Amino acid sequence: MAAFGTVFMPHMIQARFADNTWSESALVPSDKIELHAGAHVLHYSSTCFEGLKAFRHEDGSVYIFRMDANIARMKQSSKLLNLPDFDESMLEQMIKDIVKEYADETPAPPGSMYIRPTHIGTEAAIGKAAAPSMSSLLYVLLSPVGDYFAGGATALRVLLEEDGMRCAPHMGMVKSGGNYASALGPILQARSEHQADQILFCPGGDVQETGAANFILIDGNEIITKALDSTFLHGVTRNSILTIARDLGMTVSERNFTVSELLERAAKPGTEAALSGTAAVLTSVGTLIHNDQEFKVGSGEPGEKVVKLRQALNNIQWGKSPDNHGWLTKV
Ligand SMILES: *Cc1c(COP(=O)(O)O)cnc(C)c1O
Repeated sequence: MAAFGTVFMPHMIQARFADNTWSESALVPSDKIELHAGAHVLHYSSTCFEGLKAFRHEDGSVYIFRMDANIARMKQSSKLLNLPDFDESMLEQMIKDIVKEYADETPAPPGSMYIRPTHIGTEAAIGKAAAPSMSSLLYVLLSPVGDYFAGGATALRVLLEEDGMRCAPHMGMVKSGGNYASALGPILQARSEHQADQILFCPGGDVQETGAANFILIDGNEIITKALDSTFLHGVTRNSILTIARDLGMTVSERNFTVSELLERAAKPGTEAALSGTAAVLTSVGTLIHNDQEFKVGSGEPGEKVVKLRQALNNIQWGKSPDNHGWLTKV
């Protein structure tokens, strides 16, 4: 099967902002965009994106999961990058239109249609290192994706990094390209030196998140994850999992915790840890690497609470459990 995110629907939907107004949206081929070589995004990284999914239900209808939350975050990212603002309703209509166009191509569970809204500064102005782009392009790409766990779920190896940061603290809650470029060097180093799958960034000992996913710890009936602040990305999956955990009667503690507390709790049998994000949903962390030492989380294998929470979320997305929180939008 093709790697995640390498297959695209042949058309996307786009709208352009220029002279203080948004154009009508239009379906265009997705294999190219026209951009001046001096475009702001190419030099000064005025770019943000979103990742959400549409799911096919048993009766063939297609539903988008938590579209409102993703649109709100896209607006926030655009604002923090000083990209042109847009109405929620405009992006909502664009997403619905393109998902509807390819509704028949939406894979059945455990597959889905991954939706990638993207917003970039297009003004040709290389003198604007410290000024916003006055024009922009907003587009929505679609990529059908298969079962992330097709090879069987394995528990990840995660390196704890206390010295470096994923990105500048004031950029943490912006879903912007530069942040991934910033984390790539350390991640490649962790892979080659420690055979780690990911880095869990813990600046100054404060357990934060990995390069593209939030981190949760499960100790008995308690689920612990860093409290929201501006230094890290506020995942929609994180929020969904915490909501489901509360529904299941678990205690949810959104608070800061340190590497030492993490290692102490991880040593207890039955403790579980996981990464949360739209692509992989919830993936178990089996091993923590700290100062060249390896520590198992609980048994070191994928845990049953992680599987239960992931299944509960999938059941809502797949139309197998009631959508009590109003998370699904029919296209
Ligand atoms: C996208 C992302 C997440 C997960 O967000 P979801 O809304 O759950 O997909 C977490 N951390 C980072 C850095 C991300 O880019």
